[in-house]
Amino acid sequence: MDARKLVLREQRLVGMLPAAELERLSAAVESVDGDIRAELEFARDLGGYLAASGKLGFSVHLECQRCLQPVPKDVEAEFRWGIVWSEEQGKALPRDLDPVMQNGDELDLYQVLEDEILLNLPMVAYHDEECVPRDRFHFGGESGGEDEQRENPFKVLEQLKGSSDKS
Ligand SMILES: [Zn+2]
Repeated sequence: MDARKLVLREQRLVGMLPAAELERLSAAVESVDGDIRAELEFARDLGGYLAASGKLGFSVHLECQRCLQPVPKDVEAEFRWGIVWSEEQGKALPRDLDPVMQNGDELDLYQVLEDEILLNLPMVAYHDEECVPRDRFHFGGESGGEDEQRENPFKVLEQLKGSSDKS
């Protein structure tokens, strides 16, 4: 699809992206749950730039950074694209437009929507609940038993110090 024509027609596109087609997304998450809702509205923005406003909604399972088990995440995203044909044009866009590159007469919608989906994936995910018991964390030293063990090296140090003082 040529974004220039879409803008000219002020085209509104609403649809579902089949998750099976989005290989980069599938590779980035544990699983994609259902298809991806996408909505795009093409129009010139106030500055005359070729633009598209869009929304995305999808559900994925990510790997919990605490227990390494899958954790479900729902992602909703809104974005504003400025359609460009070169990096220079991209740099010249107003700040509220994210540059999206069209090659020649063809805007690869799946490609650029997948880019947008990947940009909106949470960088890290955790279960809301305490998925790993607190006492399994070793850096806190909150449990009594471990504190006692932890003291031992210091006692040894004190003894060494004591003995070196005497000599
Ligand atoms: Zn977890």
